[in-house]
Amino acid sequence: MEERKVRYRSILKKIKGLAAVFIIMCILTAFGGCDKENANALREKITEKTEEAAQKHTTEENEKPEQEQTTEETVNPTQEQTTEETVKSEQEKTTEETTEFVQEETTEKDTEAIQITTQNTETPYGNVDRIVAIDAGHQSRGNSEKEPIGPGSDIMKAKVAGGTSGVVTGKPEYELTLEISLKLKQELENRGYTVIMIRETNDVNISNAERAQIANTSGATSFLRIHADGSDNNSVSGATTLCPTPQNPYCSSIYEESRRLSEAVLNNLCESTGCRKRNVSEVDNMSGINWCQIPVSIVEVGFMTNDDEDKLLSTEEYQWKVARGIADGVDEFYSQNDNIQ
Ligand SMILES: [Zn+2]
Repeated sequence: MEERKVRYRSILKKIKGLAAVFIIMCILTAFGGCDKENANALREKITEKTEEAAQKHTTEENEKPEQEQTTEETVNPTQEQTTEETVKSEQEKTTEETTEFVQEETTEKDTEAIQITTQNTETPYGNVDRIVAIDAGHQSRGNSEKEPIGPGSDIMKAKVAGGTSGVVTGKPEYELTLEISLKLKQELENRGYTVIMIRETNDVNISNAERAQIANTSGATSFLRIHADGSDNNSVSGATTLCPTPQNPYCSSIYEESRRLSEAVLNNLCESTGCRKRNVSEVDNMSGINWCQIPVSIVEVGFMTNDDEDKLLSTEEYQWKVARGIADGVDEFYSQNDNIQ
């Protein structure tokens, strides 16, 4: 039995030895036995992988700054926008506050003016409301249709005449009368009057009788009809006002006050502008006077057929002098009214 064991062990040793040799040979074959092509292929493969890895690294590095940059750019505009919005909203707020302040100030001033007006109309001299109707004479197109010259009259007259025009400026009368009327409105309102405008654009179609009737029912306590004169004689210049005669068949009841209004306006207009003072003309052939039930005056501010006066009448400065002069006359008229009552 012992001998067998020894033989088995020596056989086992030999087998182990052979196996070891076989394994070593196998390993050697695996490494040493690979041909050049395989080795080259392997090297290329390794190189590729290395390059790939290197590229990947480079790409990652390149991409990262770009992404960061993009993000920064994206973030930045947003921040800027937000900042802009904040600034804008702050600016708006400031503007709003300023506007509010200005509005408050304006309202205060307006209220003050209204209070002054109220005080004036509530003086011991009377309670005539200072409400003035203003008619800018004529319109962009005259209306030759006829209407009665006064209430109940058989005498007919064109609804609205075409008016005169500037000999130098070429300006139609209806444009000049509106320019002056709008300034007069502003001037009177600044002085606390309430103003009713018969027209505020040139493109209207309102007859002279209708203009008077609008003024009658408007609540106005006086009516100013703004016109400019024309003459065949170019040397004629100066201002005129018109009112009814004491015997006017339609509106004699307003004669006295209309006369007083016309005088006050003419005097102050000529004083303000320095123009020639013609006269207060009493007439009964004007529809715009005959239909009136409130004190009325037609104000011929000057002659558009006179070179110098035509040019003057179209200047802003002179128009304001006209407006202030008429307003002074209106002031005088209402002061006298207050004294009478
Ligand atoms: Zn006219």
